[in-house]
Formats: sequence, C-alpha cells, structure tokens
Amino acid sequence: MADAIPPLVVGNWKMWGPRSALPEIDAIATVARAHPEVQLALCLPATLIDVAVARAPDLMIGAQDCHAERDGAYTGCVSASLLREAGASIVLVGHSERRRLCGERDADVCAKLRGVRAGGLRPILCVGEPAEERDRAADYVCRQLAEARDKLAIAYEPIWAIGAGRAAEPGEIAAMHATIGAFLHRRYGAQGHQIPVLYGGSVDPANAAAILGIDGVAGVLVGAASRDARSFASIVASAQAADSSVLSRACCAE
Ligand code: PEP
Repeated sequence: MADAIPPLVVGNWKMWGPRSALPEIDAIATVARAHPEVQLALCLPATLIDVAVARAPDLMIGAQDCHAERDGAYTGCVSASLLREAGASIVLVGHSERRRLCGERDADVCAKLRGVRAGGLRPILCVGEPAEERDRAADYVCRQLAEARDKLAIAYEPIWAIGAGRAAEPGEIAAMHATIGAFLHRRYGAQGHQIPVLYGGSVDPANAAAILGIDGVAGVLVGAASRDARSFASIVASAQAADSSVLSRACCAE
C-alpha cells in the first residue's frame, strides 16, 4: 500500500533572515504552489514569522525553538503560544545547535514538547548522535526518543553531517530510519507509521533525490540549501518525484 503521508520538506534558516530576504520567501511560496503534493515548511527566525505568514499563506511557517512554559519571567524567550499568535504552525525542538549552545538535555527537550503541544504547535523533534557516538548511534538516538512521549514528526540529523557539506551515507540513513521506525512501532503500534521521520544533514540538490528515495525517509530538514529558492526548489522537486515513484511502485505491487 502506498504511504498516505505526503513528503515533508522543511527549511531551517537558523540565525539568518534579514528583511531583504523576503523576496526569497515569496519565491519559495511559488515553489510550494507548484508542488502541491509536497508539504513545504520554513522554520524562520522569530522576527520574520508574522511577515512571512502574511506574504506566503501557502507555506507552513515555523520557528526554530521555544520555551517550555506558556509565559512568565523568562527574559529573551518565546513560548509556543506566542509563536502561534504570530502565525507559526510548527517548531523545531531539540535541534543539536540548541543542545550544544544552550546545554539542552533530553529532559528539557521533553518539557518543551509538552509546552509545544499545549501551545497548539506541531513539533519536529530533532535527534542525532555526535561523531564520537557514531559507532553506538542507534542506542544514542533511541535514548533521545525515549524521553519524548508525544506524537510528533522526527528529524534524524547526525550532528557530524550538519553543515559539513557531506551527508551521511545512504546505508547509514536507511539503518537509522529502520531503527527509528521500529522504535515508533513498539511505542505506538500501527499509528507509529503515521509519524514522519525526516533526514537532515547537508541535504542539497545533488543528493536530495537519493536520500528521499531511501526506505523510511518521509522528507528532509534542510539548513543552508533552504536559503536559496532555486536550490530549495530542486530539493522539493526531488521530494515530489520520490513520492510519485513510491506511488507507482505501490500500484505495480497491487
Ligand atoms: C540543519 O540546520 O538542521 C541542517 C541540517 O543544516 P544543513 O542542511 O546546513 O546541514
């Protein structure tokens, strides 16, 4: 049977996004309209969220982090409900750069997931091992997943592949996605298959088709290559092509 979930392609602009980049968001919105079979999202700096939502209603606009609490004396922080008010619909949680820069532990990530759900946003939980844990990657990632009790989308991002200019090998991606899929099945039964598991880490126009063709990869989380509408468009086109080939394989199997 064909997978009913359309591929999800998420851009993470990190701490980049001056007002002069707004035309790039317009161009990415045009890409979204041209590929209605792909779910397209942009996780922007909080300063761009409301203006991006107003300019690009066809795009899912998200944030890159939020506080676990709804409100309070947390200078400099933003809650899920405030992001939602600004128009965000998704938020990254536990990105490795947040874990590294702010010392976020799995328990903090878990508290944020609860805050995100209470605030009405859809979380994408980022998991992935550092280079020194590469030999024990499956155990490392399953420990990160074990803390997360809410249903969500998951992005597997081996830390050593982020911003490295070189993605993980297809075999490594396939093995980790199988591990995560089995974990989700144990925890949620058949519903676990409805949780999209993305790959992230140096996805670019040259490797996107191969990565999106790997069994269990339901989409991609893209950093650097998402800032340029042309390279992002090429990745989105690969997602659409991969989706069609899943459908045609399913049709042949019937
Ligand atoms: C990311 O920021 O999550 C990411 C995957 O970055 P890049 O695509 O640049 O490696």
